[in-house]
Amino acid sequence: MNQLKCCKTIATSDPAASYQAAINEHPSNGVTHGNRKKRSISDHTKYWKPGKTLRILIFEYNELSFAAVKNAASKWLPYINLNFEFIEMDEQDIFSSEEFLGDIRIDFQPSFDNSGGSRIGTDAITGDPQAPSMTLGTKFSSPYFEYTVIHEFGHALGLGHEHQHPDAGIPWDREKTYAHMISSTFTRAEVDANVFPLERSAFQAFTPYDRHSVMHYEVLNELTVGDWHQPLNLHISQGDIAAVRMIYP
Ligand SMILES: [Zn+2]
Repeated sequence: MNQLKCCKTIATSDPAASYQAAINEHPSNGVTHGNRKKRSISDHTKYWKPGKTLRILIFEYNELSFAAVKNAASKWLPYINLNFEFIEMDEQDIFSSEEFLGDIRIDFQPSFDNSGGSRIGTDAITGDPQAPSMTLGTKFSSPYFEYTVIHEFGHALGLGHEHQHPDAGIPWDREKTYAHMISSTFTRAEVDANVFPLERSAFQAFTPYDRHSVMHYEVLNELTVGDWHQPLNLHISQGDIAAVRMIYP
């Protein structure tokens, strides 16, 4: 069976801290779009303040890791009003600090399924400051390394998974999808959180669904009803550009 490149977003365990971090960063993270409804604490966006310089700390720093991540992550820069400052730091200093030395903290630890994961936007500055906010889980030599960095940085910029767009309309065969994903390290709850469509939220302005987004999973025909599939998108799409331009003007 084809090995899917399926990243898992790293959920926050503390919704109140997530909300506070987002609002402290930029009050517009709590603004409603469209019809107002009763607010719950998990209803907010997690975008960084436009104009900000994000400090990006790489664990296990070496020249190769630095250049590989920097080159790939920087593909977003022409489209966003943010700067990236890549930080080289002794691990001793990282593990003795009680503060967030990096807004984004990257771990390379290869995972057995070669997939990555990231916290969404400002969730990176909640929880344990010494814990990575992003895992790349793949080797530099992988043909998917650059894609993995671009995709995970999309999450770090606050983007979710595009295949979960409320208008995606992907005809998933849910039981086959659960069976397939659960066999490859996902729990049923993680499939619900990372694969199937999300409800439309009044706290998020959606750009139109874009099946060519770099934030879209590869979708296998065998996991859908009828004839529907989408190959992996390796590059930032026009839809991705429109989305991040709207978020970071
Ligand atoms: Zn992802």
